[in-house]
Amino acid sequence: MCGMATLKAEGLKAEGLGAAGRRFGPGDAGWLAAHAANASAEALVAAVLQDGAWGRVAVVSSFGAESAVLLDIVAEVNRAAPVLFVDTGRLFPETLVYARDLAAHLGLADVRWISPDMDEVARVDPKALRWSYDPDGCCAVRKVAPLARALEGFDTWISGRKRFQADTRAQLAKVEADGGRLKVNPLADWSAAMLAGRAAERRLPPHPLVAEGYPSIGCMPCTTRVQPGEDPRAGRWRGWDKTECGIHAPPGSEPAF
Ligand code: SF4
Repeated sequence: MCGMATLKAEGLKAEGLGAAGRRFGPGDAGWLAAHAANASAEALVAAVLQDGAWGRVAVVSSFGAESAVLLDIVAEVNRAAPVLFVDTGRLFPETLVYARDLAAHLGLADVRWISPDMDEVARVDPKALRWSYDPDGCCAVRKVAPLARALEGFDTWISGRKRFQADTRAQLAKVEADGGRLKVNPLADWSAAMLAGRAAERRLPPHPLVAEGYPSIGCMPCTTRVQPGEDPRAGRWRGWDKTECGIHAPPGSEPAF
């Protein structure tokens, strides 16, 4: 196992990462991904939040079905770490309650509720039905743009994505380049069983909709129940050739229809 001390000893700072005004590029991400490939999630989160080499760091969470484990690991390192939560205005009411309850349970002190620009929403999605004919456009105004604005003051962000979640995430690296920032995926190599085991061990409160057949939870209009044997994310944008909201879409990906 590669622990935090090992990550530091291998020279993150010596490489000049995290220097003032420095933007991160694919070379940085590739180097870090190689060095962090076998790091535990705990060690990687600790390194990113504590050693200063990664610049200003935010955690991004949907407070969805599998969010509790990463947030618990973060809270164990630094309860004051900024956590960005995009409230699209179309989330399940259960998610909003869960976000408050889980944050309180973990003692997270800086959860930032990020909202869309409501003038822009009124212009682009006046009837709140854009999801039904242009989900990419709806996600762009309700999720992608608000998160982009919220991330402006940060150099690195931590996401909870896992390889097992979908075929499109099967090759997910633990560190990626993201437009001048680093995106860190500490749980990339975790399985569903590992997540469940950790959640049980730590007695983490589950999202209430998981028990109702939702293993992946996004906005209410775009999330349906998943049948046994289906991909856990099969209930997201069902019927559309769309698998990501745009926050995590690979550069150059095709529009969804
Ligand atoms: S998930 Fe659906 S409702 Fe939510 S922002 Fe995207 S298209 Fe709109």
